[in-house]
Amino acid sequence: MLFLGVSKPLTIAIDGWSSCGKSTLARQLAARLGYLYVDSGSMYRAITLYLQRKGIDLSDTSAIEKTLPDIRLDFQYNSDRQASDILLNGENVEAQIRDLSVASGVSAVAAIAAVRKIAVARQQELGARGGVVMDGRDIGTVVFPNAELKIFMTADPEVRVGRRLLELSSKHPTITREEVRENLRTRDHIDSTREVSPLTQAPDARVLDNSGLNMQQQLDLALSWVGEILNA
Ligand code: C5P
Repeated sequence: MLFLGVSKPLTIAIDGWSSCGKSTLARQLAARLGYLYVDSGSMYRAITLYLQRKGIDLSDTSAIEKTLPDIRLDFQYNSDRQASDILLNGENVEAQIRDLSVASGVSAVAAIAAVRKIAVARQQELGARGGVVMDGRDIGTVVFPNAELKIFMTADPEVRVGRRLLELSSKHPTITREEVRENLRTRDHIDSTREVSPLTQAPDARVLDNSGLNMQQQLDLALSWVGEILNA
């Protein structure tokens, strides 16, 4: 690609609704550009897993705040996935954080200001030098408001439910379409209506609706935006 290697490394923020394919696009973009990929949602998921394992009530904000100093999050590159796995106090929990049980609790945890404060600080540290693609809900609005490229991803709700069902059904063979639909609906509602850093489209974000696009087409579109910015 003509802009590789010689250009100033960009900060690319990808936000959007649950199960829109943000992480797929972010991972592919980072691999193509030689950038770091950070899945910000994995941090909220790992914190949720820790709290659930400790049996802490996810609506008990003060108990959660007291527990936060016990949680250490690190990343370890996994060459098979071309992405970093998340480590929770040294344990690789990349697979466990994808469980539906974690997905059911994570949006409540992510709505807590103290949780966001530590996660956002860590995300800003990881992306401080640019050359990063980060996906989440508040990357273009809060974490990197000056990102050179902001993408807001969306897709038809039923397309998203179908994709998520496919992803979860190998691990949860009995899961129903309605359970998946309900989880996405609840998460989107909590994420977009919470008081702290709700999911919103940054005014300068480019909207990518991938309902009718395959992975290659969405990657090509995003790469064309990168090219526009680098060649401007
Ligand atoms: O992206 P993913 O679906 O893995 O994120 C899990 C949850 O973490 C989201 O539903 C949302 O509640 C929360 N999240 C967030 N801010 C981010 C990334 C994720 O609140 N930047």
